[in-house]
Amino acid sequence: MQSASTEDIRERCSISTIVFWGYAPVDEKALGRIAQAGIDRIELLESPEQFDMADRDSMRGFAAMCRRAGVSIAAYHAHKVKPTGMGSGDLEKLTDACKRQIETLQEAGGDFWASHARMVDDSVFRLHENLIRFVEGTRVRLGIENFIQPGLWVKDRLAFLKKLDHPQLGLLLDIGHVRDESGRNPMTIPGGSADILDLCAGRLVHVHLHGFKDGVDHHPPLCQGDGIQWQELMRGLWKTDYRGYLNFESQGLPHHEGSIGKMGEMPEKIAAMLR
Ligand SMILES: [Zn+2]
Repeated sequence: MQSASTEDIRERCSISTIVFWGYAPVDEKALGRIAQAGIDRIELLESPEQFDMADRDSMRGFAAMCRRAGVSIAAYHAHKVKPTGMGSGDLEKLTDACKRQIETLQEAGGDFWASHARMVDDSVFRLHENLIRFVEGTRVRLGIENFIQPGLWVKDRLAFLKKLDHPQLGLLLDIGHVRDESGRNPMTIPGGSADILDLCAGRLVHVHLHGFKDGVDHHPPLCQGDGIQWQELMRGLWKTDYRGYLNFESQGLPHHEGSIGKMGEMPEKIAAMLR
């Protein structure tokens, strides 16, 4: 396993704007706090009350604001995109909207897009087949996230990805959403993350990293009582030559204080874990 410098790791880190969700607007001042914590990339959580990811003018203005705040957009997390059960007309409109989102993402310099895509059905297949064709020849990668509900586990997502089998579509591994048959989160059990990473081999394109405590996710990383086996996870990611972002997805106020600062400390802490 190769070690990495704090700066090498910092280069790959991003922070999700979920840290402001339901509490503070995603404005220049808020984004500036991420830059001040030493992370200069964000994953933008779809927030239609504040900006429209599918609208070029809206996103040009937003991307300019990000630049003024000292951050750039790495990824879009289009959690409102839920194609399951959609009829053809609605699916066509949704597919067009996703394509426009991917265009504004590229214009902002970002290169990763993922939806929440709940239970896989024909509509989820058709949407992703369409989007794969749309991103071919670009550097954009698409992801599908795992969730705790049966049918949305890592193994289920991998079965879906195997069927579409494309290098630009992969797993968005959310470390707080992993469960085993006994209901536990394997990422909190020694040796558990290695099994999950082995399972994901070659299909992992993005991660959602956060603390996990008392069965609840989206805590600040390494908070008091955090059960995630961080060192094993980070060593595992390096060992498997994971090339995506290290995206932190902790909630902020009113749930957790100091989240941005704790995420900003992670590059140095990860470098120490890899030594
Ligand atoms: Zn997530």
